[in-house]
Amino acid sequence: MSERSCPISVSVVGRCPMSNNKEGRLGPRGCNFASFEQQGDIRAAFNIPVGVDPNQYLRQRAINELLYSDVPSMPTIKELQNSKGVKSLDSLNATEQDLLAVALGAPARQVLLHAEEVGPRTGWRDGYLSTEYGFCPPDADEAAGALARSPGRVWSDLCERMPGCVARGRVRESIAALAVVEGTEELIPDKALWAALVALGMLCSIYRYEDKHNGSEGVNVTSRSTTTNVEISDELGDEVKGIPKSIGLPYYQICKRMGRSIPHLTFFDQSSYNLKIRDPTSVHPYVGRFDNTDLRWPMFGDQSEIAFLKGCADTSASFQHGVDAIASAQEHVMTRNNEALLRELIRLKEILERMPNAFHSISMNPNSGENYVSPAEWVRWAKFSAPLSKRCPATSGLQFPPYLVMDAFLGRSKYESFLGAEGVHLRAWLPSNWRAFIASIEYHYRIPDYVAQSGDQRLMGALDSIVEAYTGERGFMGTHRYKVFGLLEVAGKTGRSETNGNSGSSDSNSRPWEETHKAFSDAMKERLEPYRGNLHVEPHQMRGTFAECRYKSRVLSRTFVDTDPSRSIARVMLDIQETGITFQPGDRLAIMPHNSLMECAKVAAALGLDTMLDQSVTLDKQWSRFAEHLGSVSNISTPQLTVKDILRRGHLAPLTKNLVMKLHTMLRTSSNTVLQILATTEWPVRASLGDLLQAVVTDTSSQIWDQAFDLSGDLAWLSELVPIEVPRTYSISNYPNELLPSTIDLTVSRSEYNLCPILSDPTTILRHGVGSSFLNPPVSSEDEFIADGEDLLIGVSRPLAFQLPIDDAAPCAFFAGGSGIAPFRSFWQARASCSVGKNILFLGVQSREKFCYENELREYIEAGLMEVYTTFSRDSRGLVFDRSRRELVEKEITPRYIDAVVVEQGAIVCDLVMSKKQGGLGGYLYVCGSLSVFDSVMSGIRKAIYNHRTARMESTDQILDIAFAERRFMLDVFMSPKPLPCNIPTIPLSQLAMHTGHTPNSRIYIAVHGSVYDVTDFCPMHPGGTNIIKSNAGVDCSKSFDLLAHTNNPEVSSLLNKYFIGHLTSKPNYHHCEEISMLYDLWSDYLRTSVETLVAHQFEVHEFMGSSKLWFQGSLFNMGGIRRFYHHQPRLLQNGFSALFGAKLQELFLKLSFTLANAVTNSSSSQLPDILGIIARAKGSQDAMTTTNEISQIGQFTCDSEAARFHEQGILEYARASVQLNMELLEGIREEACRGMDAFNTVMNLDAPSGTQRLTALSTFLLQVAERMAMRLEGFYSKLAPLSVYRPEMEQNPARTRWSLLRRKIQDGSFFILTQDIGVLTPQKNPYASQYLRGNEVELDHVITQIQQSIKRAPTLHPKALDLTAQHVARGQATPSNQVSAYESSENNHALKRMSSFMTSNMKAIRRLSKMPPQGSLSFEQLMNTYRPNSAAAVLPTPPSSRGSSRSRSSSHGADNFNPIMTGMGNLNIRSQNLKARNTSASSSQGRGIKGSITPPTPLLSSSAALLAMLNKLNKRQKPGASSPLPSPANTVSSAVMRGSMVSSRSRGSSVVGNVHLRARSMTSNANGGGSLRGFMLQQPRKGREEVGIAPTF
Ligand SMILES: Cc1cc2nc3c(=O)[nH]c(=O)nc-3n(C[C@H](O)[C@H](O)[C@H](O)COP(=O)(O)OP(=O)(O)OC[C@H]3O[C@@H](n4cnc5c(N)ncnc54)[C@H](O)[C@@H]3O)c2cc1C
Repeated sequence: MSERSCPISVSVVGRCPMSNNKEGRLGPRGCNFASFEQQGDIRAAFNIPVGVDPNQYLRQRAINELLYSDVPSMPTIKELQNSKGVKSLDSLNATEQDLLAVALGAPARQVLLHAEEVGPRTGWRDGYLSTEYGFCPPDADEAAGALARSPGRVWSDLCERMPGCVARGRVRESIAALAVVEGTEELIPDKALWAALVALGMLCSIYRYEDKHNGSEGVNVTSRSTTTNVEISDELGDEVKGIPKSIGLPYYQICKRMGRSIPHLTFFDQSSYNLKIRDPTSVHPYVGRFDNTDLRWPMFGDQSEIAFLKGCADTSASFQHGVDAIASAQEHVMTRNNEALLRELIRLKEILERMPNAFHSISMNPNSGENYVSPAEWVRWAKFSAPLSKRCPATSGLQFPPYLVMDAFLGRSKYESFLGAEGVHLRAWLPSNWRAFIASIEYHYRIPDYVAQSGDQRLMGALDSIVEAYTGERGFMGTHRYKVFGLLEVAGKTGRSETNGNSGSSDSNSRPWEETHKAFSDAMKERLEPYRGNLHVEPHQMRGTFAECRYKSRVLSRTFVDTDPSRSIARVMLDIQETGITFQPGDRLAIMPHNSLMECAKVAAALGLDTMLDQSVTLDKQWSRFAEHLGSVSNISTPQLTVKDILRRGHLAPLTKNLVMKLHTMLRTSSNTVLQILATTEWPVRASLGDLLQAVVTDTSSQIWDQAFDLSGDLAWLSELVPIEVPRTYSISNYPNELLPSTIDLTVSRSEYNLCPILSDPTTILRHGVGSSFLNPPVSSEDEFIADGEDLLIGVSRPLAFQLPIDDAAPCAFFAGGSGIAPFRSFWQARASCSVGKNILFLGVQSREKFCYENELREYIEAGLMEVYTTFSRDSRGLVFDRSRRELVEKEITPRYIDAVVVEQGAIVCDLVMSKKQGGLGGYLYVCGSLSVFDSVMSGIRKAIYNHRTARMESTDQILDIAFAERRFMLDVFMSPKPLPCNIPTIPLSQLAMHTGHTPNSRIYIAVHGSVYDVTDFCPMHPGGTNIIKSNAGVDCSKSFDLLAHTNNPEVSSLLNKYFIGHLTSKPNYHHCEEISMLYDLWSDYLRTSVETLVAHQFEVHEFMGSSKLWFQGSLFNMGGIRRFYHHQPRLLQNGFSALFGAKLQELFLKLSFTLANAVTNSSSSQLPDILGIIARAKGSQDAMTTTNEISQIGQFTCDSEAARFHEQGILEYARASVQLNMELLEGIREEACRGMDAFNTVMNLDAPSGTQRLTALSTFLLQVAERMAMRLEGFYSKLAPLSVYRPEMEQNPARTRWSLLRRKIQDGSFFILTQDIGVLTPQKNPYASQYLRGNEVELDHVITQIQQSIKRAPTLHPKALDLTAQHVARGQATPSNQVSAYESSENNHALKRMSSFMTSNMKAIRRLSKMPPQGSLSFEQLMNTYRPNSAAAVLPTPPSSRGSSRSRSSSHGADNFNPIMTGMGNLNIRSQNLKARNTSASSSQGRGIKGSITPPTPLLSSSAALLAMLNKLNKRQKPGASSPLPSPANTVSSAVMRGSMVSSRSRGSSVVGNVHLRARSMTSNANGGGSLRGFMLQQPRKGREEVGIAPTF
């Protein structure tokens, strides 16, 4: 294949194979590569005649003919001799390397040619490699067909049966029954080798998997015999140990023949070599697309497995033409043909840019049909693909050749990170042809070196764009990293610990998915290092910063696009000649804007810098990085930045709080204007630094001013005051039909706002946005022309989901509002030249004057290439599209918005929205414009669907959700982030926590950086899939937002604004009470854990309970459902909901107990509730044991489907009822945690004489809540215990069910021991039970002993470092004792570490406290008495809850809340004698509100009431003038209101915000501030009375 050939047809000249018109255009490209012409190419360089293949030609020439064709003239030689000496003339001769290269050919090409020659004869045993198809064999049937025609057919037949065998639980049985067929040459031909390898490898893996896990992914409640009565291949090595010879022996033999010294299967084998191609002739843009393949041999047969493996294969297949592009690039380097090299580089970039899309074929959106991968299934895949022994390499994404090839191509030199080391390791195990290919580009004619030496800006630009496309933040590696984060987060919370490559193991310090994210980041940084140097920031921190603008450009022109004389929208043309930039329709340009000269002048004048504009400034860290960046972009050393640079490129407007606070501090809080600005309720403030300084300079003393802005020094304060501006994003509005475009068009709408009244009063002053007025300044302003010498930094990025379909025949609809037409111009220009699919534009603009690109559109309409429907919202001079006349016809129409025309064209819109499966056209829909445009379009579409297709409005959403999930509905909402008000009600953590959307019709809230959003409606549209949002429901997900670079993404911020519902109530100021502050952090962390656990369980349960296919295959019972349930339920039960009742709760208990003991120094008794004892007794109870036994029955079914068929309904019913109880428990814990959280908000409002008493009251209350949590666990087991799978009355054949049970019991002997009491944990086995079984209160030293035991029993926190493969193997092992999810494991490890260090640092105090003398007045018991039911305190009126109205009082507070539990328990048949005894002893014990384990939880008062009640019992200091020492609750509430720190109000009458705090008021409430901000700022911490106690070390 020549450097000019089309990758699709492989033809150099002739008809474009993708062309749809009859003439078969030559010029315009049907694809991105076909038939383009460049000057000065290889033909020109070597005078190659037209029509002759250049490679062929070159190979037949004499070496001298090629290398000495360009000998310089004699005068040039003389010149050289004179200037550089005679020795320099040696360079006139070719180097030996060049001679060799011309003689032998380019190394990469030679590897290819060799592979193509030998491969077909040898069954490609060196690995498939070809010019045309890269690493993926186009004929996937060849090897499989050869296997089917050989005796090895038995293996492929068994593979085909495998999903059925898994479903019946008969895997090992069927493999054991297989006849032994050897994998020798006589029986298995070379051609069948790959298929044999894959078939046998998969069979060995599934056998090992079943053997280890019995289908339960590592959770075993019973030990079952795994022996099969056949010959085993133990002597053949560890890999096939325990595996029957029928597959172990041939696997071993086939691997040997394939050159695999140790039998193993790679990820590539499992996916890319395990495919069937649907249509081998469907080659555009590559063969192995998701929609063109089937998985040949799935093992489990469910959709997730298929989608996951196909998606991985697709990603690799998208690199199909990369191999040829790289080999060609190397050839051009050898012949120093820059033009041809440039073309190959651009080609390679376009190939790489397909990879993210290919990877997105794996979808996290349950509506995405066959693309959906359930994270829970992914968990299982990790177990299945664990290596068969410690010796062989584990499956990893790095086994896909494109990655290691691209690393070599780009000259990666550092492989020190976890993934880097893994890459080096795995490379050694790749098939020989691939290793040879990688070596050929790594060690010879390295393209990056050549490009750097060439000095050709275009080559450098093109190479840089390859770097970005491959390993950049927005390139493949960036996309991959984000997607894996989402997948792992959900999977991690439901059982998976790491990626296939094992990055992110659960014993780490952070959450596994965060650690994986970091591992990917390290690898990305290593890859980027040759180009970006040693990066100081994480890749996601580069998003939305100058780092994304790596090219230089200038504005060429600004032209009118409509008839609006003010040119509020302009077409701005930028020069990109010589940059090497290429782009696709839909791409965006990031631009670093410059401030207008006027704004710079305002600042300079006020600061006195007007005469120092060219003086250099000492830079802070951020500006220094920017200077470095400027230097690297311009290929010069780091420039000095001057005052002018800072003013032009710094962020001057709008005013952020940070900026104004800096000024405030610099001016020593002396300016009233600054104070007024700071008191504003909407941020950022609509004004510039210049505006502010102009005003402030007049109201500040010159002395302060001079000190703040010292002009005599290095001006370092300037770079500290003014941060660097962030880039603005604009959709590219043109698509030129050139290989290397020379210009970029933008359609820029100048944004306007009114200057903030504080600075403009009494007049209204209009101001323009920084970026938009820089690009499109008001007509005839002095900023029309950008000063010479100022580099305009730009960068191109590809949106994740705003691209034209690959299929040119697919119809497209574009919905645009105003300047939202910008990206669509590039779409229609691109589509017009090559597509047959319909292009329909729906456009909404204000008036006819603002109809952009009207003339151009009319031309397209006339040519039959577009349909255009317009609406004008403020103009009745309408236009109607006339299809038959192909024109827009004038017509008087009442002004209307875009939704009107969408509804009008409803029928066609519906066809476009609906998928092909639903009978629609499966069209692609794009919306671009402001949020209001988006809302209007969506409302129009919904109405259209309702009018034409559905009976109910709700059903329209389902249709839309599918379009989003299929990635056919795409948004480009390009609003600037709008200011958010901060004087609206705040939402407490507990209210956030209650909105997890896990039950039907409930809402999903998330919190990000202090704001709360109701994202329920956005969920289905999220391009990353719905699951990732759902997995963060109800919690503060700021960290994930930062890690996923959402925080800097204007698109995300502006969209989020739409869903903003209020600010999160911030952590109260505890006035230096460190203990309360520490407890707050701990409790909020526990609340978060309870929410995340609930949500994660809901995910899992929803997936396996919601799928009928998982439970039934036609009329046959499917083991899939049982397995999933069996995977889920024992994990919970064995580990007793480890995240909630494990180390985290213990930590809370420890610190609460310690705090209480420490605070109540005079107490006679430090009796504490025995929370850990209750939990331990619950877990070891007869009920828990009965439940475990029942579950183990189900475990038996996973490998014995024979028995399962008699219990179908019983099993289903059992699963349904148990998961419901699980959810009830988890919801209950969340509710308790919310209750505790609320106490933190109210505690500081209570009128307590001392901090100690406040702390005591709070700790007591929280201990009570924690005790209730423990009791809920107890209640849970007692409800679960009566459930049984044995429900003959429900089954179709009750008699057979009874008989089956009896037969089983006789067989396993249990029939004869039915009377024996089995399974209850003896006291010896249960350390807590032995010590505390009888008492319900414990001393602090008992608590400490309990905790010490936990720490001692905990798995080693720092396990011995395992090597890479050993870690993979460990992943595949069944680890019944510690089979918690990665998430739980990480949470517990943290808690254990913290407890351990707490104990160490406070040991002295602990010792003292645990031996406290029994004297003094206050006891825990007394405290508890104050709010015991029936006591006076219990009837105290409850202050209003700080929680929202979304939880009704009856469901969240008070006795009613527990009625269902009480009723439930009342109905239970309590069978355990122990339990009865405990109940009796509990009810007889005196003086406590909370008693024995099965006693229904005591009705709770609200946190405020309980705290009040406790405080009322404490000694209180009289305040001067106080009328009553004991304020009534009403007084307390009103005094709280008076203080303004807590105001309860109903918001908007909806359930959304409910009872809330007014943040603004609480901000100004502090007395000594006198309501002024200065007072607030200067407020000194009030010194409370020093409490007697021991300061703990937290
Ligand atoms: C994906 C996308 C595509 C867009 N395409 C177009 C287009 O084709 N034509 C068009 O006219 N406009 C487009 N915009 C809007 C454009 O990026 C600017 O937001 C708009 O021009 C206003 O910017 P300004 O500097 O004039 O406003 P200003 O008032 O100076 O900025 C408003 C505030 O928003 C912040 N802000 C604005 N833009 C960004 C950004 N990109 N990143 C981070 N913060 C930002 C500023 O820092 C400032 O705080 C697009 C926006 C996005 C997100």
